[in-house]
Amino acid sequence: MHNDGQEDPALIAEVDRLLARRTRDIRLKGEIKRLFRARVWSQTAKIIRAWMIWVALLDVLTLALNMLILPRPIALSMLLPGTIIPPIAATTFFVWRRPRAHWIQGASLIAGMFFILLSVALVGVSAGGEFYERHLNIMLFVAITAIIIFGIPLAWTAVIAALALGLYLVFQLQNPAIEFGSAVAATLFFASGIFATVAARRIMTILAQKTFLFELRDQRRVAELAKANDRLVLLARTDPLTGIANRRWMTETLNNLWGSGTGCPEIVAMLMCDIDHFKKLNDHLGHAQGDRCLVEVARIIQENVRRDRDQVARYGGEEFLVLLPEVSEEEAVSVAERIRRSVEAAALSNPGSRVSRCVTLSIGVAVQSAEEAISPEQLQRHADTALYLAKQAGRNRVLLHGPDKFGESNRGKNRQKAL
Ligand code: GH3
Ligand code: MG
Ligand code: MG
Repeated sequence: MHNDGQEDPALIAEVDRLLARRTRDIRLKGEIKRLFRARVWSQTAKIIRAWMIWVALLDVLTLALNMLILPRPIALSMLLPGTIIPPIAATTFFVWRRPRAHWIQGASLIAGMFFILLSVALVGVSAGGEFYERHLNIMLFVAITAIIIFGIPLAWTAVIAALALGLYLVFQLQNPAIEFGSAVAATLFFASGIFATVAARRIMTILAQKTFLFELRDQRRVAELAKANDRLVLLARTDPLTGIANRRWMTETLNNLWGSGTGCPEIVAMLMCDIDHFKKLNDHLGHAQGDRCLVEVARIIQENVRRDRDQVARYGGEEFLVLLPEVSEEEAVSVAERIRRSVEAAALSNPGSRVSRCVTLSIGVAVQSAEEAISPEQLQRHADTALYLAKQAGRNRVLLHGPDKFGESNRGKNRQKAL
C-alpha cells in the first residue's frame, strides 16, 4: 500500500471531510482523485485487458463456428466486419498495458469500445434478416458487460453507454424489418436498462472511493500511532535531565548484546563513571547547579566515545555507564582516561570536593573477553568493584578490574592517576 499524502494536512482534512458526507455525495477532487486513480489503475487495467482478450477470442470462435454452421454466404458476410474486433481489442490491450496520460487512456478505451460495438452491429447488419436485430442486442449486451465491470471515470462510462445506444438507434432506424416507432421504442426500452447499469456502476465506483478514503484514514492513524509509540519508547528510554539513555535502555542493550545465551558474543568493555563528591557540589552550589553539572558531564562523556558504536547511559544519580563493544583492555582504559581528563579539563566548579576544586570522575573499567564469557551482571559487578577501589584509592582515577591487573594498574601511570 502506498504512503502518499499521509503527511499532507490539507489532504488529511479533505479525507475526513469526504468521509463525513453521505456516501452518495462523495466526490473525489484534486490530489485525492489522483491518488485514487493511481491506487485502482492496475486493477482496472487488468480487467480491461482481460475483457479485450475475451471479446477477441469469442469473436474469433463465433466467426469460426458460423463458418461451420451457417450457410456460407451469410458466414462470409459476417467475416469482414467481424475481423475488425481482434486488432482493435489488441490495440486497446496494448495501450492499457502500462499507465499513460489520462486522456490517452480514455480516448483509447472509448475509441476501442466504439469500433468493437460498431463491428458487432455490422456483423448483424451485413448478414441481415434475423441476424440484424440479434447482433444489435448482442452489441448492447457487450456494452453492458463493459459498463458494469470497467471501474473507469463516470464520464467515460456514460460515453460508452451513449455510443452503444446511438449505434442501436441508428441501425434500428435502418432495419427494414421494423417500423420507425418500434425502433425508437426499443431504443428507449434498452436506454432505461443501460441507464440503470450506469447508475449501478456509479454506486460501485463511489463505494470503491469510500473504501479508498477509509484506507487513507487508517494508514494515517496507523502512522500516527506508530509515531506516538516511537515517542513513548524513546521517552521510556531517555533520561529527561541529560537527554542520554537511561538505565532501562542500558539494561535492554545489555540483554540484547548477550542475547538468550549465557555469554556475550563479542568482546565488550564497561566503564562505570561516578562523579566525585557530588553531594558536596549540591551542598555548596545548589541542586540546580548540580543538575547543570550532570548535563555537562554527560555531554563530555559522549564526546569521548564513538557515536555510532558506543552506548552511554545515566545509570544512577551521578553515575554514568559506558559500553564499548569490541575494544581491548588497553583501549577501554585509554577511553576512560580520556573521559576522566576531559571532565577534569572542563574545570566545573566543585568547591566542597576533597579531591580538587573542580569536578572529577572516578571510573571503574571491566572487560568481557572472548575467552571468558561472563554475564552482564558479573561484568557490572566487576566494573563496580573497580570503581569502588578507585574511590578507595583517592578518587579522580581510572581502575581496571582484574586480580592480577590491579597491581599493574595501580603502578601503571596511564591507567591510574595518583593524586
Ligand atoms: P563519591 O565521591 O563517593 O561518589 O561521593 P558522592 O557525594 O558523589 O556520592 P553520594 O552517593 O554520597 O552522593 C550522590 C549525590 O548525588 C546525592 C544526591 O543528592 C545527588 N544526586 C543524585 N541525583 C541527582 C540529580 O538528579 N541532581 C542533582 N543535582 N543531584 C543528584
Ligand atoms: Mg554514586
Ligand atoms: Mg559520586
